[in-house]
Amino acid sequence: MSLRVRGMFWIGVYILLVFAPLFALLLLPTPEGRNFWLELSVALGFAGLAMMGFQFALTARFKRAAAPFGMDIVYHFHRQISLVAVLFILAHPIILFILDPANLERLNLITAGWQARAGVLSLLALLILIGTSLWRQRLKLNYEAWRTMHGLLAAFAVGAAMVHVAIVGYYVEAPWKRVLWIALPTFWIGLLLYVRLWTPVRMLRRPYRVTAVNEERGGSWTLQLQPVGHGGIRFKPGQFAWLTLWNSPFAIKEHPFSFSSSAEQAGQLAFTIKALGDFTATIKEAQPGKLAYLDGPYGAFSIDRHQAEGYVFLAGGIGITPIMSMLRTLAEREDTRPLLLFYANNSWDDVTFREELEQLSQRLNLKIIHTLDEPPEGWTGETGFINAAMLKRHLSQRFTSRDYFICGPDPMMDAVESALVEIGVPLNQIHSERYSFV
Ligand SMILES: Cc1cc2nc3c(=O)[nH]c(=O)nc-3n(C[C@H](O)[C@H](O)[C@H](O)COP(=O)(O)OP(=O)(O)OC[C@H]3O[C@@H](n4cnc5c(N)ncnc54)[C@H](O)[C@@H]3O)c2cc1C
Repeated sequence: MSLRVRGMFWIGVYILLVFAPLFALLLLPTPEGRNFWLELSVALGFAGLAMMGFQFALTARFKRAAAPFGMDIVYHFHRQISLVAVLFILAHPIILFILDPANLERLNLITAGWQARAGVLSLLALLILIGTSLWRQRLKLNYEAWRTMHGLLAAFAVGAAMVHVAIVGYYVEAPWKRVLWIALPTFWIGLLLYVRLWTPVRMLRRPYRVTAVNEERGGSWTLQLQPVGHGGIRFKPGQFAWLTLWNSPFAIKEHPFSFSSSAEQAGQLAFTIKALGDFTATIKEAQPGKLAYLDGPYGAFSIDRHQAEGYVFLAGGIGITPIMSMLRTLAEREDTRPLLLFYANNSWDDVTFREELEQLSQRLNLKIIHTLDEPPEGWTGETGFINAAMLKRHLSQRFTSRDYFICGPDPMMDAVESALVEIGVPLNQIHSERYSFV
């Protein structure tokens, strides 16, 4: 089945799962004598709640379901659809307040009954969840603390909403509707258990051992891993995995990193990690022999998904890692297609993998264009951002028959994507991996 068909299939499954409970609950018998607006308000509440419940499925990292889109798109969808769900859920009480302003009294948590209390608490949790996610960086929330809070608030919001629905009782009185109403949260709890228990157990059973930690140019470290008692991971060059290093997989303290090693070496994995924050600064302290755990592979950013006459890679700083994996893989496969790499860095000394890239350009049909922000004296190469003029200077006549892979800091990626579109590269030939997607 093609990726497009598989993508359509999973979108269909999502729509069915989100809306089927709503239609089932609205089937006869429904309470009589209620006006259209009241029914609409309830329908929006149910649809919003089902969307929130299925958010657990979107972040459960089901490989098959995520494969046609890529994990970044799934997370992006998770973010956007939560805004739609919250709008639906907010519309539910707002319509009730407009229909009868006396309903406003239900906002009073002291005097209101448990039915309203559960609804209000659920909504409050949801609003805090959305606010802390949209403005996490502005609020200076530590990622790990935010992630724990995010999970707890989500479980509370959905749980309280279920209590609200159960106490209200309309639409869930018929026994088969009760069955459905029990099946749904059971499924959602199952998803939580899958993420919190089953995935860590699977990771624990397939450990990796650190075999070396090597310093690279540009403040990065390459962590080499070998599988212990299993065959390792089969991944596509350019994909990534979530790495757990200092904790047990149950702690869910994991970080995503692109494989930088060749995909032809499932038993010899490498990640190249730039020391930028709390976790990444500790990589250099990992000693050979230390156990590590991986959840992966994930991601759609790979030459193996896009067959083309040739490839153009555009990397900024540590964004070279997935591209390095693709180049190393192509070299091992003795690929002869034309390859062009634009690689933007601060200075010549910062160029991660500089020497190996030079060697790869001898083994592959690869041309490398370095561009530097702070070039050394006598530098005759490119300087500054990659832009349309720079692309035109180096791309071949057949540039529209190439596929383009971009990875780097967000501003660089935005500029390069615009420049490629500006010079006429078709959108479906431009592929990006954003390290900021979480
Ligand atoms: C698909 C993908 C592939 C990546 N590949 C590489 C790579 O090959 N090499 C590399 O050096 N970096 C890579 N990164 C970036 C790397 O994951 C972050 O730099 C790292 O997680 C930051 O952690 P920290 O605690 O050191 O930084 P902090 O300073 O604590 O965090 C900086 C920012 O990083 C993000 N972040 C922090 N913790 C996590 C976490 N547990 N999970 C996800 N994001 C987090 C948050 O947005 C946070 O605001 C990749 C990111 C993604 C999404």
